[in-house]
Amino acid sequence: MADLDGKNYDYVIVGGGVAAAAAVDGIRELDESGSVLVLGAEPDGPVYRPDLSKTLWLDKDSSLDKIQLLDGKQVELETSSPVTAIDSGAHTVTVDGGATVTYGKLLLATGSSPRTLDLPETDRVIYYRTAGDYRRLRELAGQDTPVTVVGGGYIGAEVTAALTLNGAKVTMVFDEKLVQQRLFPKSVAELITKDFTDRGVRLLTGETVAAGALADDRVAIKVSDGTSVEAGAVVVGVGVMPNTGLAESAGITTDNGIVVDDHLATSTADVYAAGDVASYDDKLLGRRRVEHVDNAEAMGKKAGRNMAGADETYDYTPIFWSDLFDFGYEAVGQLDSRLDTVEDWKDDRSSVVVYYLDGDKVQGVLLWNVWDSTDKARDVIAKSRDGKLSRDELKGAIPTS
Ligand code: NAP
Repeated sequence: MADLDGKNYDYVIVGGGVAAAAAVDGIRELDESGSVLVLGAEPDGPVYRPDLSKTLWLDKDSSLDKIQLLDGKQVELETSSPVTAIDSGAHTVTVDGGATVTYGKLLLATGSSPRTLDLPETDRVIYYRTAGDYRRLRELAGQDTPVTVVGGGYIGAEVTAALTLNGAKVTMVFDEKLVQQRLFPKSVAELITKDFTDRGVRLLTGETVAAGALADDRVAIKVSDGTSVEAGAVVVGVGVMPNTGLAESAGITTDNGIVVDDHLATSTADVYAAGDVASYDDKLLGRRRVEHVDNAEAMGKKAGRNMAGADETYDYTPIFWSDLFDFGYEAVGQLDSRLDTVEDWKDDRSSVVVYYLDGDKVQGVLLWNVWDSTDKARDVIAKSRDGKLSRDELKGAIPTS
């Protein structure tokens, strides 16, 4: 690490993820020469994180080198440099190891950390999130190693599909009856589940991980009914928690995330927040925290611009997407199968738009094998929330092809 102690920067960004990198772009749009320091906790600099569970496994031409987000940018990057304290009065941050750095404007883009399970501490258990996790899984999965994937969320489903397409034998353990049943209505979850099974994925469903034990170079995962499954690598994706500790210790307001205003400013002067960690007031959907890359990019950039003197509101409702084998989708808002849903299938059932409602208000739209329609989805959400589109008018509101 460079000797940072006593240095002074116009902008300091805490965090080394997508929101941090986007903030650098935002700053540079308005300020070409101001000094920018990015302090990342991970040993790698910011990478385009979605590729870790998608493109890097599916496109032979992709590589970690090609997804570095700060390469060639005019910025100072310090990796393995977690910030341990903020003194907002003195406008300083303290870096692990003791160096104190002064900021003009500060961005907290501290992201989130994986939830962990009571599993053996071994580098064969990977809480999949970082470039280092990708490297480790590549090493292990490249040896005809069976892999157990724990968790049926985004990471669980994407990593299972990616590994299977790379020839690995994957067992997926998740606490539901169907793959991604918490996100999708039964009809869609059944399609995914059948596809995963047809492609050779072993599904241990309706189970909760109860214990794990080590045997030589294997990790044994035990599920609640007593079934045990052994593998050379275990990938865990059971959700993440926002990294709010630093902000809390500094007296910055948090409430399921760091609370920001419409300019992405926190409760403390000259301190902004963006990305997974920020709780913002979405123009369409109200106060929320979004753990998807489109939000990290858009919010990071806007925060950077505002730090550099712009006076702009964040009025963007982000999208997200995924690819699972030959299926793909885009979505806006909240996908939670516990909400009331209206399904609008194409006649040949190759695609579907699913509207998720809370009462008569659309909270989210799933565009399953339906493309170029996220603006329409936002429009539907807005109209429904303004009382201009009723539940009965949803079918046909967005074409299924
Ligand atoms: P996630 O999508 O929130 O899914 C976590 C899943 O694990 C949930 O279904 C959860 O169930 C389940 N779970 C919780 N505890 C468990 C346990 N003890 N045993 C088995 N399952 C358990 O989180 P993730 O897949 O870990 O992804 C991490 C983050 O990366 C998320 O913020 C996600 O949005 C983001 N990400 C996004 C994309 C994308 O947008 N395409 C892709 C990859 C990652 P409950 O609901 O009951 O807690």
